[in-house]
Amino acid sequence: MKKLIIPVLVISLTACSKTDTSSDDSSTTSETATTSDFTRLYDKMYNVTSVDYSGSSNVIIKTTDVPDHKTPFFGVNNAKYEAYNGDNPDFSTKISLMGNISDPTLLSQSYTFTLPKNPTQASSHTSTSGGAMGVARNGVVFFNQYNGANAALDELEINNADQYLGHPTPSAGNSGAIYHYHYEPKYLTTKFGTSGFMGFLLDGFPVYGPYENGTKITTDMLDEYNGHVSSTEDYPNDKIYHYHVISATSSVASVLKLAAPYINGGKYYGKKGTVN
Ligand SMILES: [Zn+2]
Ligand SMILES: [Zn+2]
Repeated sequence: MKKLIIPVLVISLTACSKTDTSSDDSSTTSETATTSDFTRLYDKMYNVTSVDYSGSSNVIIKTTDVPDHKTPFFGVNNAKYEAYNGDNPDFSTKISLMGNISDPTLLSQSYTFTLPKNPTQASSHTSTSGGAMGVARNGVVFFNQYNGANAALDELEINNADQYLGHPTPSAGNSGAIYHYHYEPKYLTTKFGTSGFMGFLLDGFPVYGPYENGTKITTDMLDEYNGHVSSTEDYPNDKIYHYHVISATSSVASVLKLAAPYINGGKYYGKKGTVN
């Protein structure tokens, strides 16, 4: 008699260890943007070399990245030098990096931003990286919340931020010391109001100040990119996607750190353009 070999059916029990990732994700906005035409914001860019939005798919912004405000980082012999007058007792223009003391003055740059016109949400979201991740309305570049070693900004960098919360890159290198904002651009929120338009990130979406309709914006009101869809003072009858800078109530490092990620959560909401 033949032996029957009966296959043993092994039922895998490994498939269902699902964790509940559902949905107290209150940071995900349910609003839908009603426009992504940012022409009226392109017109608010100033202290830049040029803004060209005549093309159908991109807006091209050129800037020298020289701030329109004073700073200690112009160097004492420059007419735009202003000694530090902020609230951080630990401020220094000098920054010590692995034993090397750097005390840079800012230098003029030559940036060309090519940003998507009518940007939309990307299907996959690109991380920000070192260097310019956007351009403020006064032509100064935005950097992300990380330092050159890709670590969170700490006392070292915060104590190097001037009265307007900008500073140059420490190494003069080939392209010179690049002045930039990581935090609330204090000159712009003072000049244009804390609910005002602040600039653009590389994906072509605008950045706004730390308040909206009289309410202080906190990260838990925003998505993981530090943005949301709502009306703004420039779009009272529309809803637009935009980022927010988080309020920097003090330049003292222990306080300013609480405003992280400051401008952007680490990835772009839209498809990023280019910067050269
Ligand atoms: Zn920096
Ligand atoms: Zn908003």
